[in-house]
Amino acid sequence: MSDEQHLDANVPGNPAYHFTILPAGSPARVGWAKRGPMVPGASLATRCVHAGVQPDPAYGAVMPPIYLSSTFAFRDVCTNAGYDYTRSGNPTRAALEEAIAQLEGGSGATCTTTGMSAVTLVLNLLPAGSHILSTIDCYGGTFRTLEHLKGAAGLKVTYLDLGDLAAVRQALEQETALVWIETPSNPLLRLTDIAAVAALARARGALTVVDNTFLSPVLQRPFEHGADLVVHSTTKYLNGHSDVVGGAVVAAPGRTALLQRIQSMNNLLGTSQSPHDCFLVLRGLKTLLLRMRAHEAGAQRVAEFLAAHPEVAAVYYPGLPGHPQHALAKRQQDGFGGMLSFELKRGTPERVNHVLRTLRWFTLAESLGGVESLVAHPASMTHASMTPEARKRAGITDSVIRLSIGIEAPEDLLADLGEALGSLPQ
Ligand code: PLP
Repeated sequence: MSDEQHLDANVPGNPAYHFTILPAGSPARVGWAKRGPMVPGASLATRCVHAGVQPDPAYGAVMPPIYLSSTFAFRDVCTNAGYDYTRSGNPTRAALEEAIAQLEGGSGATCTTTGMSAVTLVLNLLPAGSHILSTIDCYGGTFRTLEHLKGAAGLKVTYLDLGDLAAVRQALEQETALVWIETPSNPLLRLTDIAAVAALARARGALTVVDNTFLSPVLQRPFEHGADLVVHSTTKYLNGHSDVVGGAVVAAPGRTALLQRIQSMNNLLGTSQSPHDCFLVLRGLKTLLLRMRAHEAGAQRVAEFLAAHPEVAAVYYPGLPGHPQHALAKRQQDGFGGMLSFELKRGTPERVNHVLRTLRWFTLAESLGGVESLVAHPASMTHASMTPEARKRAGITDSVIRLSIGIEAPEDLLADLGEALGSLPQ
């Protein structure tokens, strides 16, 4: 039976237009997928919109359906449509994985329930007793997991300022299996030269992992600098609307064996992301480029405002020419991002708390990367899981205030900060 036999209705009064309804199972339905899943050579703006997405072969839905089914029927013994059980694979998740892999320029990705499950997945790739070199001011949850695995899996961890390449060279041991980079770091926005550290790691046979949560692939693509794996908390910029927790691990181009290992580890650990949450992150990706530009424009204005304010002792933002790694930021990144931290002159708890309590447009909350601006106190919130000694070593004092700049009008944010700083207790 040919598809053309299924003429169903004409447009009334206009016989030139005939509607053809393709029957279920028609091979022509697959013809909707004109582009194929890859968008080679397309610019980042185009990839944000189209990567991983093509009209659904069943009905031509422009956005991928949310395949909530936990299980998939076999057509016959050992014959199915590529999916059998949602923990191991799901079409909605596959669309998001393809999209993130294309944005990062990787060979593929696997999406997880949270950013922390993405971190855990990567650490589970290592044999017991492996040595890890980690940035000293990694995210508090990553620090807590590394500390846990020291006991549980016998991992050995050295925390280091990865900006000090001589120290990195010295700290790399024969059995170092992995170097953990977070750049810019949280909350002090220190940078690591990915290319330099990845080259040292490669020479020792160690994998380089970059947590790219703070910048997203719009502003930094670690594979272009030699990383082996990229990790994301998609909870942050990739989703961008503060209504999902999620994570992703992406393998470098050409690393198919590594890709298979991260995919099967996600299945093994049972950390794969729910189809509904994948759909939301995929929707968020479409505006990622626009949002990142707005976050960054606002952050630059806020950083300059704070740097000139008489009550402010220090501003940590790579977009300021005075940032010690401003040149590296320009070289390694395509922008400076939407995160910054600052310290008050006389940063007593009373004065710090005044700022945290007084701001109107900045919500006092954990997390970052959403469309709304947030303020956080790392010592009591995001980095409370670090020991006081570890915080001290990382330079995270009790007076550091972290801002995640949303996409509101920068003038409103400046006015808000101006009011809070102008009414500080003396
Ligand atoms: N990596 C970074 C840099 C983060 O900031 C966070 C969370 O704040 C995580 C990982 C963990 O992500 P999640 O909260 O989605 O588990």
